[in-house]
Amino acid sequence: MPIRAPRAFFLRVLCVLGGFLFLAGCQQQPAEYRTQFLALGTLVEVQIAGLPRARAEQAAEAVRRDMQAFTARWRPAGDSELARINAALAAGETVTLDPEGARMLREARRLSRLSGGRFNPAIYRLIRLWGFDSGEPAGPPPAPADIAERVAARPSMDDLRLQGLRLGTRNPAVQLDFGASAKGVAVDRAIRILRGQGVENAIVNAGGDLRAIGRFIGPAGTRDWRIGIRHPRRHGDVLASVEIAGDLAVFTSGDYERYYEYQGRRYHHILDPATGYPARGLSSVTVLHRDAVLADAASTALFVAGPDDWPAVARAMGLQQVMVVRTDGGVALTPAMLERLSFPEEPGPTLEVITP
Ligand code: AMP
Ligand code: MG
Repeated sequence: MPIRAPRAFFLRVLCVLGGFLFLAGCQQQPAEYRTQFLALGTLVEVQIAGLPRARAEQAAEAVRRDMQAFTARWRPAGDSELARINAALAAGETVTLDPEGARMLREARRLSRLSGGRFNPAIYRLIRLWGFDSGEPAGPPPAPADIAERVAARPSMDDLRLQGLRLGTRNPAVQLDFGASAKGVAVDRAIRILRGQGVENAIVNAGGDLRAIGRFIGPAGTRDWRIGIRHPRRHGDVLASVEIAGDLAVFTSGDYERYYEYQGRRYHHILDPATGYPARGLSSVTVLHRDAVLADAASTALFVAGPDDWPAVARAMGLQQVMVVRTDGGVALTPAMLERLSFPEEPGPTLEVITP
């Protein structure tokens, strides 16, 4: 092949001569690789730094496959594994879980207890009644009598009987929805998969809820990852930012994520299991923790706890780094959170530091 050889030689020379070309074109070692896909009912972004493109792509692809399969198994609607479990529970039957399902359920039950039942994955009947399990929730809100019936049935994670892999319930009103903790489970799984593929620097971001490991490696060198926390009322604005080196999950629960307005009132997707209505008083709660499942469940639990009770629930759940924004715009946060965050501008009309 007389023509190809000189061309290959010419290319090699070019690569050696031009430092930039050498890095970008020949070794294929980009500073950062990013990809996006749909899973968990949201847009997921995987960002990987410091690996050759082909390896990063392969690792991210493994995450995509796992997250999409996980979503199909654990969404409450359709013909999912969770729908099969819920149908058995409603019929008073027992059902066999796989080890992954049993582990997830036990962890959800533990966190539900710690939160005093504010994080309660057993209230799917109530969530469905409000329509927050559908793509486009819309008013009017349900009839008060129907809400009262769902609340009076008192579905609780403590009603579940789990022996080994066999699951049953003494309360047929228990229907499961892991919407408040499944992102945490899936993000933790993703980080485990990435690490198994040799990834040391990455962010897995599921619609603003994320876990970051390692650091960012860019053309100008290595620095901490920079994460923005959304302003709950100013769409597209960052309320605060946090720098991460190492390993940390950042989870936010907000009344702006899924909601509808009806006759001038906002009805959002985080329900207080005690009243059956959307929890009042806060517009967002952000929790930082190494454990993404805990951060996810806790941000929902603290949102339900509201402006007065969130510090007590944060203490019960062992949280150090919490920020809440009240519906009046006031911001409150723990001392450890204040230390971690930077605010691009005055965060709100008031800023309170509260020790849980
Ligand atoms: P998150 O965005 O993590 O706060 O989760 C909110 C989702 O969890 C909702 O869309 C519901 O599917 C579900 N959910 C709502 N209220 C609760 C609650 N009090 N406990 C557990 N799950 C809930
Ligand atoms: Mg949550």
